[in-house]
Amino acid sequence: MLLSFEEFAAFTPQRETYALFGYPLGHTMSPALHAALFAATGRDADYIAVTVPPEKLAEALALAREKLAGINLTIPHKKAVIPLLDEVDPSAADLHSVNTVAFRDCKAIGFNTDILGFAESLEKDSVSLRGKKVLLLGYGGAAAVMAYHCLCEGATLYITGRNLDKAEALRAQLLAALPHAKCLTCTRRRIPKDVQIVLNATPLGMFPREDKTPLYFLPHKVGYVFDAIYNPPVTALMRLANPKRTKTRDGLFMLVMQAARAQTIWYGAQFADGACDSILRRMYGQMAVKRLHDKYHKRHIVLCGFMGSGKTTVGRKVARLTGLPFVDLDRYIEAQEGLTIPEIFAQHGEAYFRDLETKYVTEVTARQEGCVLSLGGGAVLRPENVAAIKRTGLLILLDTPFFRILKNLSYSTGRPLLEKENRAEETRRLYQARRPIYEQAADCRVRSPRLGEVVERTLKAI
Ligand code: NAP
Repeated sequence: MLLSFEEFAAFTPQRETYALFGYPLGHTMSPALHAALFAATGRDADYIAVTVPPEKLAEALALAREKLAGINLTIPHKKAVIPLLDEVDPSAADLHSVNTVAFRDCKAIGFNTDILGFAESLEKDSVSLRGKKVLLLGYGGAAAVMAYHCLCEGATLYITGRNLDKAEALRAQLLAALPHAKCLTCTRRRIPKDVQIVLNATPLGMFPREDKTPLYFLPHKVGYVFDAIYNPPVTALMRLANPKRTKTRDGLFMLVMQAARAQTIWYGAQFADGACDSILRRMYGQMAVKRLHDKYHKRHIVLCGFMGSGKTTVGRKVARLTGLPFVDLDRYIEAQEGLTIPEIFAQHGEAYFRDLETKYVTEVTARQEGCVLSLGGGAVLRPENVAAIKRTGLLILLDTPFFRILKNLSYSTGRPLLEKENRAEETRRLYQARRPIYEQAADCRVRSPRLGEVVERTLKAI
């Protein structure tokens, strides 16, 4: 729910309610994210977003003390709120930035949970900062949080950006709070060659200008890249990393964890193992649907690939995470025709089956409601099928390694094209013939032998 300041003044909460204050507030993921976190802890609470103009912040805070159980703050209120609070947590005070306010014993107390979200992202990737050389791109709000944590953890930090005076100002602010910290600035032309960690805290590379990057190459010792951006989930900067040597992480986990820690501060929320990870995966799912619409102007996620590549299993999981309905084309054809695929092949032959495939691919992809559609292995062999799919769907190839396909197929029956004496040889022949066709047809491709990884990469490929 997004309320104007006037609507908030007249608002009567029906149960325990929390809110985000910002100005302006366009699309925000916070209400959906907090609702998922409340559900994970079984908390019966609401979360609303309120547009609070800067001159109304004091009034809004006074109303919040009466009506709300806690608030989050975003641009432009993170600093302005500090003089209005009764107490401020030391790290938030050092940063001059509060994003979470708890009301306790008639007091409004400010915290910064972005620091915790960032710290937990690095922890998730087992990245230690002690003694490391870290390059920070940017010197705004997110940069200050990341810099503060790096310095508290004993890293040597280099801040860079397009305006060295602003980088110097952040350095001075950090050194005022942490006088013994190792913090330097550098121009973008004189980045030390031996930095080991790169952190992006600029919006360069964010949707819709996804080709932008704050760096054009990574110094060769870099082993970890963190990008605070989460749309897209894989940024141009992250794509510079060599996946064999350099771990990368986008900003979505930081976003999830700063919200989770706000709930811990508000009401002592404890999250079960894996709860935040499963919320993270659902957020990737929601993001994928949004990107499908905003970037590609499509409504269906369509999975193609060789038989046994995991399209049905992955499709089901992707559907659950995106909230889209799932359609398996082969099962759909069977339901419409009242015959199994082997029966259709036996009674009418392959050409008849291919005509049915064309008919039903066209029918499903013409639907107004978006879905996740898993195709049969031969469905993209006809160019007219590919054309119909691409009008409304994004076609993703599950490029599962051949050894994994063979293993999957060894458990399965009812594959008419493989019902031959030399099944393994026939499988390889068909796979080699079809792979180039899949590659040419698909908009993007996902390759991994591990199912969980394929699901996550499918969402991030969008
Ligand atoms: P901010 O306070 O406005 O700071 C933006 C920074 O980016 C400044 O250093 C700015 O430098 C630099 N910048 C902007 N445009 C640039 C350009 N074209 N070329 C070079 N530098 C440029 O914003 P913020 O709140 O720190 O957010 C920064 C990024 O972090 C955003 O993408 C935001 O979505 C993300 N973020 C993520 C999370 C999370 O939880 N994952 C949390 C907060 C922020 P100038 O002052 O010179 O323009």
